[in-house]
Amino acid sequence: RQRIFSGMQPTSDSLHLGNYLGALVNWVALQEEYDAFYGVVDLHALTVQTEPAVLRERSRRTAAQYLAGGVDPARSTLMLQSMVPEHTELSWLLACHTAFGEANRMTQFKDKIAKGQSANVGLFTYPILMAADILLYDADLVPVGEDQRQHLELTRDLAERVNGRFPGTFVVPDAYIVKGSAKIMDLQDPTAKMSKSLSSDLGLIDLLDDPKRITKKIKSAVTDPEREIRYDVDAKPGVSNLLVIHSTLSATPIAELERAFEGKGYGDLKGEVAEVVVAALEPFQSRMAELMADPAELDRIITAGSDKAREVASVVLGRLHDALGLLPRV
Ligand code: ATP
Ligand code: MG
Repeated sequence: RQRIFSGMQPTSDSLHLGNYLGALVNWVALQEEYDAFYGVVDLHALTVQTEPAVLRERSRRTAAQYLAGGVDPARSTLMLQSMVPEHTELSWLLACHTAFGEANRMTQFKDKIAKGQSANVGLFTYPILMAADILLYDADLVPVGEDQRQHLELTRDLAERVNGRFPGTFVVPDAYIVKGSAKIMDLQDPTAKMSKSLSSDLGLIDLLDDPKRITKKIKSAVTDPEREIRYDVDAKPGVSNLLVIHSTLSATPIAELERAFEGKGYGDLKGEVAEVVVAALEPFQSRMAELMADPAELDRIITAGSDKAREVASVVLGRLHDALGLLPRV
């Protein structure tokens, strides 16, 4: 079976609709067919400073949301990045193969700085740690959203560069941008992606928002001064985003929605989108409540998965040690 790796940062208490439709839903489908590794990448989350108790809680909650969404720890390997120290070590070894200019071209870093996030070196080298996350498991495929395409290109470049010096060290992974999987935009700024760390509260739909909040947020979504309900990302980013959300959750083609909403107003569209989102999230939310009621069991699942991950990671890292000329332990 082919191997896949993907992860999310525990940078908030709840994942948002973009994480769900752009990632989690696909993960659950993919675990049937692939040997899947899904990480809670808490070291990445350290690029923003968070209260320790809050980070702990968020890491548990992120893992719980994977499970609530349908990740099955009996089939997939669910791991916590900081429990597998091989990630940080490989990150250093890859950093020594990364050109400064190449790291400097990463647009997500620039976006985050432009939005006022502190420019620590960890945030700058984040894509290298991400490359390590992926290469450490010999992943063939990496299911990620469009927003991660550039980081994955860097991962491939690094793998190929190391393989150029030491053939056969890494598996060169391909992006697996799931067909039809959506990039969900910020409800208040529909030209920017919905983001845990960048979106305003009204701009994102948390998976754990109650029905009233979900409805309120969707009703206040920014649209445009026209009246026509039509998919056109450039001219009508807000309306297009609502159509995408509806279409993905209700499994209705966008063209069909455009027909159904002909002659209707934005209020009608928003009302129906809110209903669709609320209904889709209800089972997820009740499962989440059950999981969070037993944190000890949750910690056990996380630890067992991380131990399993480490067995794979140590073998791959060992190959690079050997190739680079680091002495073997005897
Ligand atoms: P942060 O703002 O802290 O970077 P994020 O919202 O970008 O958080 P990540 O943890 O970085 O979330 O990404 C987790 C997964 O969700 C990735 O696979 C990413 O491609 C996907 N993803 C993130 N935002 C969106 C979005 N708006 N639409 C679709 N997929 C998304
Ligand atoms: Mg992100």
